[in-house]
Amino acid sequence: MKPKSADLLIVNGTVLTFDANNTEISNGVVAVSKDSITAVGPASELSDWSASRVVDAGGGIIMPGLINSHTHASMTCFRGLADDLQLMTWLNEHIFPAEAKLDEQKVYSGAMLACAEMIMSGTTCFCDMYLYEDAVARAAKEAGMRAVVGEVLYNFDSPNYGPIEKGFEYTQTLIDTWKGDPLVTIAVEPHSTYLCAPELLKKAFDLARAFRLPLVIHLAESKSEVEEIKERYGRTPVEHLAELDVLAPNVLACHCVELTPNDITLLQQFDVKVAHNVESNMKLASGVAPIPRLLNEGICVGLGTDGCASNNDLDLFLEMDTVAKLHKVKTMDPTAMDARTVLKMATIQGARALGLDESIGSLEKGKKADLIIIDIDKPHLTPMYNPVSHLVYAAMGSDVRTSIINGAIVMEEGHLKTINLKTVLDNISRIAKEIEKD
Ligand SMILES: [Zn+2]
Repeated sequence: MKPKSADLLIVNGTVLTFDANNTEISNGVVAVSKDSITAVGPASELSDWSASRVVDAGGGIIMPGLINSHTHASMTCFRGLADDLQLMTWLNEHIFPAEAKLDEQKVYSGAMLACAEMIMSGTTCFCDMYLYEDAVARAAKEAGMRAVVGEVLYNFDSPNYGPIEKGFEYTQTLIDTWKGDPLVTIAVEPHSTYLCAPELLKKAFDLARAFRLPLVIHLAESKSEVEEIKERYGRTPVEHLAELDVLAPNVLACHCVELTPNDITLLQQFDVKVAHNVESNMKLASGVAPIPRLLNEGICVGLGTDGCASNNDLDLFLEMDTVAKLHKVKTMDPTAMDARTVLKMATIQGARALGLDESIGSLEKGKKADLIIIDIDKPHLTPMYNPVSHLVYAAMGSDVRTSIINGAIVMEEGHLKTINLKTVLDNISRIAKEIEKD
């Protein structure tokens, strides 16, 4: 048989595919040509493959890149600015005044810092909601990261686009500008049921449907939000969206902490996707989302870090550890949220939540080559009886040593290839000085 050739071969590692059979290959090889995976299998079966470039995984773990299904990347600018405060004090006295100082350049720099942090901790795709999202899209593209981005829409004037009509124009421009981009997908992103009037929500939904885009929204994040919506409309936030006919499979509902049994039924019926942001919910004392119940109902749940000001990092490995443990305590059941379930939420389920599961989320022939290599030659990862266990309960983002997105190596042996980290850090230090003064 003729030898088969690829652009890139990743060899000498344990491959966790996260395919439908959870295939694991102890000495596996992944072949990549251009932006896609062309073969995955045991080294013994792929011995006739050759490539112009070979990456040695050094006996580590080769797995799909992690997917951050909800964040506000540029909030890295506010990391550690204000902690341990009541939500409204935190927002009104610290975050909103700091956000008033943002402009497109600062959002770009913040997003670039977020991309550096995400790539260095194993995330290859993120879903973003913020202001000046064209700058976030540009940062992601330059960093070589896959991203779903959308301009936040609400019924008060935005520092970026002004009144809401302009917000829809801005979103349309994003859709037109980024159409067909290999890395960037646009989403329509109304902030929440409390900051968006019914007409805004309906219009956003129609726009998302017309262009077959995800609609991303914060939903049922806290008790006070649910009370406010009940007072205004006589319904829970989820029921409110159902009443407006804006629940559908392309809707990604972020947080979903406060849900009634009827809310859960509605999310299930309409195949709404959920982004679980456990550390943000803990830090802001929002509560514990009923994720084991949602999963039991067959609802698709991805993991998100939320913005950096309420977390305060973008490391999905740490997030996974917390997800697995918090739900065990909450349910008083150590079998709840097993490691594999949590890993799937950070990979293939995250991809599904973003409508990207046909192209990413698992290592399978024909999918886009988004993958990471984890170094296991570390004291805290030795011995390794079960890689799935280690990835959730012992590994950290800093154990990721190589990252490939859309077939391109964006980090190799811990060195970023697409981002000048020194420049990014210098820019953020300057921005932080501006934010700090007054
Ligand atoms: Zn959020």
